[in-house]
Amino acid sequence: MAYDQNNIFAKILRGEIPCVKVFEDDNTLAFMDVMPQAQGHVLIIPKEPAESLLDLSAEGAAAVIATTQRVARAVKKALDAPGIYVMQLNGTPAGQTVFHVHFHVIPRDVSVPLKPHGGGVVDAKVLETVAVRIRGSM
Ligand code: 5GP
Repeated sequence: MAYDQNNIFAKILRGEIPCVKVFEDDNTLAFMDVMPQAQGHVLIIPKEPAESLLDLSAEGAAAVIATTQRVARAVKKALDAPGIYVMQLNGTPAGQTVFHVHFHVIPRDVSVPLKPHGGGVVDAKVLETVAVRIRGSM
């Protein structure tokens, strides 16, 4: 399947729809997931247009994993998370729903059950209160 320039993350990258930003550099963008599976759920994407990890260049993969590591460290510190779950889905059968490659960083605590993937939408103002803590830990 060819890369769809109108997928949601392509629109976020072009600034056509808003996101609660956590980090940005020349090659990557990190922002709060609008339907978090746990408080502090962040998505990290390369700016390179690629549908899945399998389509991404080696340089794009290196950039996105470096930002994922940086965000994971900041999320752990900001939320005092005992564990960090890094998730990355490729293709509909694997559960991918947005077809611009992305990594999920999700804080984990065994006492807090993980919410369902693609569950309820959280208001941007609430996400911003978490994002400000994560940005302050980077
Ligand atoms: P996937 O299922 O493709 O691995 O993950 C897509 C993720 O994108 C889901 O966790 C979903 O909550 C999130 N998502 C979907 N639409 C939007 C949106 O418009 N803005 C943000 N920030 N996240 C979104």
